[in-house]
Amino acid sequence: MMFALADANKFYASCEKVFRPDLREKPVLVLSNNDGCCIAMSREAKRLGIKMGMPWFQIKQMQLPEQLHVFSSNYELYASMSNRMMALMEELAPRVEQYSIDEMFLDIRGIDSCMSYEEFGLQLRRHILSGTGLTIGVGMGPSKTLAKSAQWASKEWPQFKGVLALTLANPQRTAKLLSLQPVEELWGVGSRIAKKLNVMGITTALQLAQANTVFIRKNFSVVLERTVRELNGESCIALEEAPPTKQQIVCSRSFGERITTLEAMQQAVCQYAERAAEKLRGERQFCRHISVFVKSSPFAVNEPYYSNVSSETLLTPTQDTRDIIAAAQRALERVWRNGHRFAKAGIMLNDFSSTGVAQLNLFDEQAPRPHSQELMKVLDTINQTGLGQIWFAGRGTAPDWKMKREMLSPAYTTRWNDIPIARII
Ligand SMILES: [Mg+2]
Repeated sequence: MMFALADANKFYASCEKVFRPDLREKPVLVLSNNDGCCIAMSREAKRLGIKMGMPWFQIKQMQLPEQLHVFSSNYELYASMSNRMMALMEELAPRVEQYSIDEMFLDIRGIDSCMSYEEFGLQLRRHILSGTGLTIGVGMGPSKTLAKSAQWASKEWPQFKGVLALTLANPQRTAKLLSLQPVEELWGVGSRIAKKLNVMGITTALQLAQANTVFIRKNFSVVLERTVRELNGESCIALEEAPPTKQQIVCSRSFGERITTLEAMQQAVCQYAERAAEKLRGERQFCRHISVFVKSSPFAVNEPYYSNVSSETLLTPTQDTRDIIAAAQRALERVWRNGHRFAKAGIMLNDFSSTGVAQLNLFDEQAPRPHSQELMKVLDTINQTGLGQIWFAGRGTAPDWKMKREMLSPAYTTRWNDIPIARII
């Protein structure tokens, strides 16, 4: 086997820079939902001493030698850039697995019969850069874990120029790299396991690779045993071309401002229900179980904390937004209490099936709605292709319910009105 892992550098911050060439060498920061804290930044921002997770109000007070360019998170833009990047990678490798929004595993077996792995990595990098303006790092190895380690090293040491291949033909090179990689930086090793390993004297990836597999299985798990085998070049984790279907969909959010009226909460829940239903259709699933939860802030002083959840089970599995909104509103009415200042709410869909034709109850009067599938298709097509936005009146008049996004960049790649204009001087 031979895998490549391609990973975009500083993905969110780089997406913001692609359409703003004036920011190329400037410090760029991306904030979490509701402009809460820093979730991504460019190299230049990191150099200024900003840390991931720092609250925005704190960053604002810092005395910096340079102007900071700050953006609210623009997931519409990031998802679209991610799609472009993935499509470009698929052009160069027949079997691929999207691992996260900015990472992809590629099956590159046999590529070395026409070029070296390094050449392939450089070619992939150029291809993505010219097609999207994004820079990727490429790590390659005979197992997914080794490809991940190579990718880690390609970022850690600039002399690799973002491309590094580990092969079975050169075990000394692999051993050298693994001796420099702390065990907590390994793919699939969490901080809790890393601590336990450290106590046992295993601090580097090489020491873990040399550990006895029986000992590891006994003291940890088969999962970590698999990591040990993978580090030794034995591929145990296969490429997952089709990701497993989700078993649960959650849509929730903290509010920009507290919610105190039932009407406002109904609007918010309506919006989450719409989004959850759309995701459900995207997974080609139907659901029967719908829960709604509401919470006040556990940190508020002089306020009683209140949190509750309620569920509805439908007789017939559905993927129709109208059924999901109706069920969510019934559940909401049961958990709503006047007098609280709500900070967060959400909806959860469970009990999935791949078809809506459940056993109909003989006396059931809630037959499926006529033309439901066609109507939902029209809805999704309009909303997803940029033709326009339609939503249910229950959401109120705000197209996106009251999220604080004061520094949002345009939807350059997904909205006609936001398309960047190039001026030639
Ligand atoms: Mg990345």
